[in-house]
Amino acid sequence: MRPEILFPLFKPVTTLPGVGPRVGAVIEKLCGGGRLLDLLFHLPTGIVDRRYAPKIAEAEAGRVATLTVTVGRHAKPHNRRQPYKVEISDDTGRLTLVFFHARDDYLAKTLPEGETRIVSGVIERYGDSLQITHPDHIVPVEEREQLLRAEPVYPMTAGLSPKTFGRAVLAAIEATPELPDWLDPTVTQREGWPGWHDAMNTLHHPEAQADTEPDAPARRRAAYDELLANQLALALVRRDMRKVAGRATTGDGRIMDRITKALPFKLTPSQVMAVAEITGDMAAPERMLRLLQGDVGSGKTLVALLAMARAVESGAQAALMAPTEILARQHFATLEPLANAAGLSIALLTGREKGKTRDAILADLAQGTTDLAVGTHALFTEDVAFKDLALAVVDEQHRFGVHQRLAITAKGRKCDVLVMTATPIPRTLMLTAYGDMESSRLTEKPPGRAPVDTRAVPNDRLTEVVDGLTRALATGAKAYWVCPLVEDSEKIDAAAAEDRYAHLKQVFGDRVGLVHGRLKASEKDAVMDAFANGPLQVLVATTVIEVGVDVPDATVMVIEHAERFGLAQLHQLRGRIGRGAKPGTCLLLYAPPLSETARARLKILRETDDGFRIAEEDLKLRGAGELLGTRQSGLPTFRLADLAHHGDLLAMARDDAALILNRDADLKSDRGTALRVLLYLFERDAAARTLRSG
Ligand code: ADP
Ligand code: MG
Repeated sequence: MRPEILFPLFKPVTTLPGVGPRVGAVIEKLCGGGRLLDLLFHLPTGIVDRRYAPKIAEAEAGRVATLTVTVGRHAKPHNRRQPYKVEISDDTGRLTLVFFHARDDYLAKTLPEGETRIVSGVIERYGDSLQITHPDHIVPVEEREQLLRAEPVYPMTAGLSPKTFGRAVLAAIEATPELPDWLDPTVTQREGWPGWHDAMNTLHHPEAQADTEPDAPARRRAAYDELLANQLALALVRRDMRKVAGRATTGDGRIMDRITKALPFKLTPSQVMAVAEITGDMAAPERMLRLLQGDVGSGKTLVALLAMARAVESGAQAALMAPTEILARQHFATLEPLANAAGLSIALLTGREKGKTRDAILADLAQGTTDLAVGTHALFTEDVAFKDLALAVVDEQHRFGVHQRLAITAKGRKCDVLVMTATPIPRTLMLTAYGDMESSRLTEKPPGRAPVDTRAVPNDRLTEVVDGLTRALATGAKAYWVCPLVEDSEKIDAAAAEDRYAHLKQVFGDRVGLVHGRLKASEKDAVMDAFANGPLQVLVATTVIEVGVDVPDATVMVIEHAERFGLAQLHQLRGRIGRGAKPGTCLLLYAPPLSETARARLKILRETDDGFRIAEEDLKLRGAGELLGTRQSGLPTFRLADLAHHGDLLAMARDDAALILNRDADLKSDRGTALRVLLYLFERDAAARTLRSG
């Protein structure tokens, strides 16, 4: 349960003075949450220094100045195009305030003639007079001191004034309790870090631009807190999984041999290595928790099958779980013939197997007549029981969280876990997503793959692209046409894809199919099947649906608005083609002008096909939350930490977490109690619940 001391931080922002439902809703959207802590974690990115308070005669053009002035004459415009002007003065000179499209009544009220006001804004020189166009602040004299400060600048959104937001943040800080410090005092001293409460206060009251930079002490402290919560949570979950004693799964290689003999090719060296690492782990008495990383098409599925075969050799069962229905079916289709060739019985279980069919599948799993099960998370719902599950393979594609991993392991009392990811993960991110998990990497592609020619094309050349596609289709080629996520809304994405579909249908007629996340599973399957085996040659798709489907003879990939995708995502999409012997073409359509980052991304893609290198570059180029697909990726996103700058803190947090649990396994000491607060503060509730109550 969340500690009481944190309750104020989890209250809705609408409990703050001056924040009604409308403002509350805007804040929620802006900050990714509508609670006080969401406000606190929305950090300023810079400052406007309002402390420069000269007399008018000394005011330098180009600077932000805060002036104490007497309001003079109002000069109303004769028409809407002219600005409204107000003269102001002090004992050294005069200056003009300029307003376009101003409301007369508002200006009359804010700037009453003859009164003293404090005005702050950028001083401009206009001819030989000075002016301020649209002052940022006009306040009564009493508020002078409040205004004369370094004003934090927040990432903002429409419908919210910086003033309202600033007030809400201050009120949130006011309501923030002093929390017991969870950091080791020697560390905070060595690093020169403030306490948590001070850090929050400093971050929202920056004195200089430097205070808002990633290397400011308060910022590093806050980042460290977040990373420590992440590492501690992972360490706890991992420990929880390991609590259950493992089993030694061994075998004589008889079934594995039958499978490799049935293959028309030889395993690649990294497949051989991965199989050895995995079966080595399985044979050890501890539980396995291993990651199998490799590019799309690098042959992970086969490695997984061999590991599953080893489980069967030992007399037990194995299961493979895919993130989507389509992928589960595809895995099943790939594995079934190989399993049969090796004399294994294999079953498919997804949400679509119902009634008697499902009952029969469940009975076979429970009796152990089924050796291998492939499915979606339906495999791990309550009423599914295995006779003896020794290995669970999770084809993750980044979609599952820690929760699902826990659910799986509850099924086989001692079952080993192998997680497959199609996008290679940079080492730093690996640590945040999986902690110290062991990993095997498939670094080379199976031989005989033709290269993919990758080109970036501005989208005003769409007609040429369509012409090119026409020629390719005439030779029997198959093409994916990917429409990007437009917003966080499947509805809108689907609409964009539907528009493109309608357009391409006019050109290509019945050879075009459409698949997106809003179709029913059966409809999706029908379209996919028609693309893989039937008359469809062009498949228009959103990324929401797994393009992760194997159509080996597809050779063309068109990606619209490629500039909106992350590198890793583009690489993954591209991996869908060039799987066979025919060379592929990948066209990255973009809307100019490209940002520098987008340009860099497209360049790297043209240069390399090495997923591991791309993953590292992706991390370097990734602007926080800037990319589509980052959000969806399932990789943890940090609110205070920025791995491009705080990578050193991550390693430190990992070591710290290990040391903490070594010394105080149940977090029962004073520091332990404070660390529990930290876990709940960063909403690692599931991990905190693995602890015995304190
Ligand atoms: P991944 O799961 O990593 O995306 P798959 O296991 O689906 O990759 O393999 C992609 C394709 O490559 C499959 O058609 C598979 O049969 C084939 N393949 C796998 N390993 C090899 C190999 N060593 N040599 C040749 N082809 C291979
Ligand atoms: Mg595969």
